[in-house]
Amino acid sequence: MNVVELKDVKKYYMLGQTRVDALRGVSLAIGQGEFLAIAGPSGSGKSTMLNMFGCIDLPSEGTVRIDGTETEKMTDKELTRYRRTKISFIFQSFNLIPVLNVYENIEFPLLLQRSISRNERSERVMKAIEEVGLLDRVKNKSMELSGGQRQRVAIARALVTKPLIVLADEPTANLDSETGKRIIELMRHINETEKTTFVFSTHDAHIMKEARRVVRILDGRIVAGDANGEG
Ligand code: ADP
Repeated sequence: MNVVELKDVKKYYMLGQTRVDALRGVSLAIGQGEFLAIAGPSGSGKSTMLNMFGCIDLPSEGTVRIDGTETEKMTDKELTRYRRTKISFIFQSFNLIPVLNVYENIEFPLLLQRSISRNERSERVMKAIEEVGLLDRVKNKSMELSGGQRQRVAIARALVTKPLIVLADEPTANLDSETGKRIIELMRHINETEKTTFVFSTHDAHIMKEARRVVRILDGRIVAGDANGEG
C-alpha cells in the first residue's frame, strides 16, 4: 500500500513577474515502511517535494494522494486534521521550544489531540524518550542540549503521534558528520523496529548512503531512483 503518491506534480511560485518552477512534473510513490532519501543539490526542489508529501503546500498541477485519498478532494478541515495526526516533520534547525524541557517538547503535539488521555500521553512520551536514548535528559530544557540531542528530541516528538509518515527536511544539515550519521542510524533503527515510514532530504553523499532507496532530484525533476513510482 502506498502512503503517499505524487502524479505529475508541478509547483511554481511567482516572484513578482517571474515564475519559478520548483517542481516540473514529479511522479513518485512511497510505500508503507520505506526509508527513503530525496537527494539533490540546494535549490533542486527537495523541500518543495516534502511540503507536497506533508500537505504543507498544494501542487500547481497534478495530484497528491495520501493514504489513498486525493488531497484535492479533502476539505481544509480534513487536511488540517490529516497534517496533525498522520504527518510528522523534523527540521534541520530542530524547531524545539527553548523554554520547554525534553518531556514537554515531546508531549506538545499530543496536547493538540484531545482524544488521547493523560495516561496514554505520558506512556507515549516516555516510550519515545527511551527510543531516542534520552531518559537521562527528561527534565533538561532544550537550550541545554547539544545539536545531536536536540535532533533526538525532534525525532521523539515526531514519533509520539504515531504518524503514517515522518518527513525530515535536511535533518543532519546542522550537525557534524559523525552526529549526523548517528541521527540517520537512529531513524533507520526506528524504521526497522517500528515500521515507521521515513522520508528525508539531503545533499550529503555520506548521508544518502544510509537510505534504503534514494530518489535523486535536479532542477525540479526526478533524475534517478523512481523505480517504485510511476514516473
Ligand atoms: P531545496 O530544498 O532542494 O533546496 P526548494 O524546494 O527549497 O529546494 O526550492 C526549489 C526552487 O523553488 C528554488 O529555486 C527556490 O528558490 C524556489 N522556491 C521555493 N520556495 C519558494 C517560495 N515560497 N517562493 C518562491 N520561490 C520558492
